[in-house]
Amino acid sequence: MWLACSQRCGSALFRAMFAEVDLDSAGNLLGFRISQPGYLCLGCGAPAFDLSEVPAELAAEEAEERASVPVAVDVLCPVCETAVSVGADRECPNCGAELELP
Ligand SMILES: [Zn+2]
Ligand SMILES: [Zn+2]
Repeated sequence: MWLACSQRCGSALFRAMFAEVDLDSAGNLLGFRISQPGYLCLGCGAPAFDLSEVPAELAAEEAEERASVPVAVDVLCPVCETAVSVGADRECPNCGAELELP
């Protein structure tokens, strides 16, 4: 986890808004669990974010990468008549003939 204030006030203290605290019968703290992500900056009260979660920027980059992968096209090999899905390399895996994309 890497929390950061949305106002970038520089504070390094945050409060989890949805934490469940476990106590024993004497009221001693046994542990806690974050039941829902949600944090406040203790410095200025602004919402804080967990930067360790995949930032939207990274996700967009990944989607772009996926989009640049050539889409496979199904063609029939003109030599051996095998149905081949042609992607990056345009060669028949069966006979090695060069394939033409429709
Ligand atoms: Zn702050
Ligand atoms: Zn072939």
